[in-house]
Amino acid sequence: MDFLPIFFNLKQKPSLVVGGGKVAARKVSLLLKAQSAVTVVAPKLSRELVEWLEEGKLTHMARDFADADIEKPVLVIAATNNKDVNKRVSELAQARGIPVNVVDDPALCSFITPSIIDRSPVQIAVSTGGASPVLARMIRTKLEGCIPAGYGRLAALVAGFREKVKAKFTNVDQRRAFWEAILDSSVADQVFSGHEDEAAEELQKAIDAADPNPKFKGEVYLVGAGPGDPDLLTFRALRLMQSCDVMVYDRLVSPAIRELVRRDAELIYVGKARDKHTMQQENINELLVRLAKEGKRVLRLKGGDPFIFGRGGEEIELLAQQGIPFQVVPGITAAAGCASYAGIPLTHRDYSQACVFVTGHLKDGSVDLNWPALAQPNQTVVFYMGLHGAPTLCKEMIAHGMPPSTPVALVQKGTTPEQKTIIATLDTLEETVKNHQFQPPTLIIVGEVVSLKEKLDWFNPKEPQGKAIKAGKW
Ligand code: SAH
Repeated sequence: MDFLPIFFNLKQKPSLVVGGGKVAARKVSLLLKAQSAVTVVAPKLSRELVEWLEEGKLTHMARDFADADIEKPVLVIAATNNKDVNKRVSELAQARGIPVNVVDDPALCSFITPSIIDRSPVQIAVSTGGASPVLARMIRTKLEGCIPAGYGRLAALVAGFREKVKAKFTNVDQRRAFWEAILDSSVADQVFSGHEDEAAEELQKAIDAADPNPKFKGEVYLVGAGPGDPDLLTFRALRLMQSCDVMVYDRLVSPAIRELVRRDAELIYVGKARDKHTMQQENINELLVRLAKEGKRVLRLKGGDPFIFGRGGEEIELLAQQGIPFQVVPGITAAAGCASYAGIPLTHRDYSQACVFVTGHLKDGSVDLNWPALAQPNQTVVFYMGLHGAPTLCKEMIAHGMPPSTPVALVQKGTTPEQKTIIATLDTLEETVKNHQFQPPTLIIVGEVVSLKEKLDWFNPKEPQGKAIKAGKW
């Protein structure tokens, strides 16, 4: 994170704008909205600023900037077209630890101003850290369209009831659950349709009727997070991710997806790198039971689909035995995700009429698979966890009749900005794995369909330069 987003209380506090042109006027308008006592230092003022001056909204010093101007304000904006003046303002402010923004000169800024969606008291600030103000504005436009103007009024209504609800529920979790239910109920609809009085009445009734000590029943959500790209989450996955109390996750869940989980949910990492299980499977199963028994909504987030090589079945078995409610949300499994993003159709009328998913995970150095069934023509075989077993895999496939020239794709970190796909054949696979230092997770796809990649390739992320995307690295 290059900048910390905060909301600054400027009410009745002095701020300084150096410059009197149109750009300065835009900044002054923002400061006035925040109810700051604004002083503008500039020999001349634009028409808008003159109007505000005449309306008594600001103080004007009709002269050039002087060093002493920096003494009083708690926030400074420089918006002149003189670089030297802007630089001087910035230096003086920074020397005194006063936040300063120089319009269109990020190097001289100690803070930048975001694009704002204003549904006061609800405010959404969007920033690209100065990388692209146009993109920030585009995002703002999108958000403007999907956040009803009524949210401001809803927040104002809720503010008036906060103390009452606090008095009713002493427990924070119970309070949160009450508000979640209310904000998703007809109270919100009443506000959106302009019936504030009815909404207030309904809210009061809900407070009166609520049980101050409700018994929470814990539940477990076994959710597939897909192969890595957050856009591939299901709506249900996202909804549960945003309503859980605690998340239990492992290595396969990408950071970009973890970012979408409710901020104040407790996060429990249970590992699961190959051969490096941070927590034994039985302990994970027991952990889920314990958390649910404490009344928590437990999100067990798993890479891909929880029922495909994910041990999801084992994890809910104990829950079922103990009568703990659970639900399972499917996710896009790595084979589907990686194949799509690598431009490899898993089936194709000309090349492959069947597709098999197998795990190449070695137990005691051996892979116990039905090789004759896998080494079939017109079939695609996808190996999960197959990297370490690659030498055995190609040897056995060839020994059981597959042509050594059969194409093979290795897809590393599929569907993410770090996706890398390497094409080999069965007889060059072992060497390819040795030479390329693949990092987990990597998927191996074997079959004639792999040759279609050349024509159907579409997703080729470049290694990003920007820090923002790097923050999402696995
Ligand atoms: N339940 C998961 C699979 C877990 S097994 C699913 O349905 O996808 C873990 C294996 O999945 C990894 O060793 C790798 O072979 C594969 N895998 C998972 N995500 C992947 C990704 N983004 N790119 C490549 N392979 C992936």
